[in-house]
Amino acid sequence: MLDLTGKHALVTGIANNRSIAWGIAQQLHAAGADLGITYLPDEKGKHERKVKDLVEPLSPSLFLPCNVQNDEQVTATFDAVKEKWGKLDILVHCLAFANRDDLTGDFSATSREGFQLALDISAYSLLSLSKAAKPLMTEGGSIVTLTYLGGVRVIPNYNVMGIAKAALEMNVRYLASELGSSNIRVNGISAGPIRTLASSAVGGILDMIHHVEEMAPLRRTVTQEEVGKATAFLCSDLSSGITGQILYVDSGYNIMGM
Ligand code: NAD
Repeated sequence: MLDLTGKHALVTGIANNRSIAWGIAQQLHAAGADLGITYLPDEKGKHERKVKDLVEPLSPSLFLPCNVQNDEQVTATFDAVKEKWGKLDILVHCLAFANRDDLTGDFSATSREGFQLALDISAYSLLSLSKAAKPLMTEGGSIVTLTYLGGVRVIPNYNVMGIAKAALEMNVRYLASELGSSNIRVNGISAGPIRTLASSAVGGILDMIHHVEEMAPLRRTVTQEEVGKATAFLCSDLSSGITGQILYVDSGYNIMGM
């Protein structure tokens, strides 16, 4: 049985009720996990209020600002986890960012700055969060990140985010290799296209979704709930022998050649 009772889970990346991280947080909560939620702070505090109201029904025991580009906030987040829980069992990395201009048009036009920004937020952050989580995962743990097919195949307009996802997927393998001896598992979920704030920045996202609805073996896209359930599996003992893997939750789309 999928049971996360007594597990402490830190979930990043909830922006609104369409966020994949929201689907994940709901499933971890339903399985009995105690949640810590981080949000991306903004100057007016609008984001904080919105996310706080949304997650209230899940009664998170931690609610923390964490911009992954800010090392002090990352340190403060894990200090708060240590103080509250003493340990950490689950880390969900569910965030990414690239400039909208870099998610359409010619890939070769990507600026150095845009490239560095996308790679820093979307890929390097898995390293910095894992580094901070490692000493707290004293009884082993599970780290799960979210990736997309555009990291292994060319998807129109995905551009620099494809490079970031390729780096992210290799991060999963190198981290899994390093952390395995501490019984910390690291896996990625490659989700099919879902309408969210982040995906709306990718040029032609609706066409991508319609294409999946036509071509995928299941003839539909996936939901946040389905990604959440697969994440709960990867965070639970049911997947205790699985690490360094990318699990496709995409209605089977990735197997198709035509
Ligand atoms: P979303 O917009 O709901 O979530 C993206 C999150 O990233 C937001 O919560 C945002 O606050 C956070 N974020 C951005 N910059 C940050 C920073 N500097 N520090 C901390 N947080 C930051 O969109 P989503 O689609 O749910 O995206 C979640 C993850 O799923 C991303 O990694 C995305 O690439 C991946 N993914 C999405 C799809 C899709 O079609 N939606 C498919 C496969 C993978």
